[in-house]
Amino acid sequence: MTENPAAPAMLNAEWVEKATPERFAGQTVVVTGAASGIGRAVATRVVAEDGRVVAVDLSEDGLKSLAEELGENLVPVTADLTREDASQKVLDAADGRIDALVNNAGIMDNFSPVHEVTDATWQRVFAVNVEAMMRLTRAVVPLMMEAGHGSVVNLTSEAGLRGSAAGIAYTASKHAVVGMTRNCAFMYATSGLRFNAVAPGGVATGIEIPKDASQFGGARLATVQANMPGVASAAHLASAICFLASDDAVNVNGAVLPSDGGWSAV
Ligand code: NAD
Repeated sequence: MTENPAAPAMLNAEWVEKATPERFAGQTVVVTGAASGIGRAVATRVVAEDGRVVAVDLSEDGLKSLAEELGENLVPVTADLTREDASQKVLDAADGRIDALVNNAGIMDNFSPVHEVTDATWQRVFAVNVEAMMRLTRAVVPLMMEAGHGSVVNLTSEAGLRGSAAGIAYTASKHAVVGMTRNCAFMYATSGLRFNAVAPGGVATGIEIPKDASQFGGARLATVQANMPGVASAAHLASAICFLASDDAVNVNGAVLPSDGGWSAV
């Protein structure tokens, strides 16, 4: 499923992922939402580039199958990131070293505009997409400051760039991710830390649109989604995310990078 129910064809289907050997050698990268979709592709790429991944997700089964695939460089942490004990579980698994944090876990809304959105939808979307991201980042930053280096990549969305890609809760949450990214980029610019965001367009992953999708919102969004050039693969996104997470992006701080085949240029 993608954010766009009427998604067009796959973009760049002929592209072949090429790992950069040793790019993450000796490094520990925390990836949230690693059991599925974009997070799984990021974890896979980091391990292929010789890093150690602390993979966090709600899904114990998903993490188990990923660990079987990737071997001992994958440290699974089953946790609900909206719970207060989640950050400590991640820190314990990281064992004193976090070079990069990919804040990827996120959930969609049901396309509700403001006159339809329920408190439950708003609170759930903000709990996962905003609050959990802030809490884990708050727990990890002191470790990075102590080390004098660190890179954080936050997943925003096309919905973090404009008002026409989702309902109000998801749109506001992904704009909040942009704000958190820029504030942290400014605050820690002289501490050796970098904070960037990636804004995917439509990506073929397991992300779910709740069954009670708003007809009003869906009809409005369909008029803009027709301009979407195509759907990306999770590996396409991992390529941009791993660049920003790695030392290759040494002088990139506070950027919001669309990886959307040009959708945001429309
Ligand atoms: P996905 O549903 O395939 O994977 C998300 C993972 O996050 C799942 O494994 C899920 O179990 C986990 N997760 C959700 N809530 C959690 C919680 N409270 N604690 C721990 N883990 C939790 O989704 P995806 O498409 O790979 O999305 C990844 C990120 O990319 C999200 O932030 C999403 O908003 C963003 N994004 C996706 C698309 C798209 O079209 N797929 C587009 C724009 C942005």
